[in-house]
Amino acid sequence: MKILACLLLIVSFAVQADDYAAARQSMIDELQLYAKLARDTDDARLSDAVLRAMNRVERHRMVPASQIPFAYENRPLPIGHGQTISQPYIVALMTELIDPDADDVVLEVGTGSGYQAAVLAELVEHVYSIEIIEALATQAKPRLQSMGYDNVTTKLGDGYFGWEEHAPFDAIVVTAAASHVPPPLIEQLKPGGLMIIPVGGRFMTQTLLLLEKTDDGEIITRQYGAVRFVPLTGKH
Ligand code: SAM
Repeated sequence: MKILACLLLIVSFAVQADDYAAARQSMIDELQLYAKLARDTDDARLSDAVLRAMNRVERHRMVPASQIPFAYENRPLPIGHGQTISQPYIVALMTELIDPDADDVVLEVGTGSGYQAAVLAELVEHVYSIEIIEALATQAKPRLQSMGYDNVTTKLGDGYFGWEEHAPFDAIVVTAAASHVPPPLIEQLKPGGLMIIPVGGRFMTQTLLLLEKTDDGEIITRQYGAVRFVPLTGKH
């Protein structure tokens, strides 16, 4: 009887795992289609490497229990404290635009659930991620560890000021909307580095900006359309 119960438990876990894998794959298919329709340009196409990374991250483990049924829908979801886990397409696009390399060290501002950090961690050497809300920072750290992301280091703090101790960074990903590009983040970007950041007002759509710091320190800015993020808070 005990053996039968164990077998049933194993089968039910296997079925559940398969369910999520299928849901994740169908989200990936949707992202490919969405990328084509939303921004039909070469430089916003989602690469196989980014899509593979998106397919490896178990988003259902990064949302509150009530949101698990929606974890693989291409939309932001509430994670408590008035914050959201970002829309998968936007996570994929921002990841793509920083052109991640296996030996890159990346700073993320706005850990939230840890989802964007996990996607980056699939592609780069190390991710440093800062979160300003204590409860979210406290949840994300063990979550990322339990999911095996040993190459992510998190801290509680105001990401406006970056993380000087580990700078300069090959890339910086800001996942909250700023009224302007924080000067400390520009300083902490390597020559040749890329920063992706939504810039604009709090209660409107913002513009997704890609900044490139040239080898001689000049900043080149490109725009990647309208997005809607929660605001970058803090006392800066
Ligand atoms: N990257 C997150 C994810 O994948 O779940 C999504 C983040 S949510 C859209 C934005 C996050 O930025 C929130 O968790 C918010 O608390 C955080 N945040 C806002 N202002 C911040 C600041 N100054 N420094 C660090 N984190 C900040």
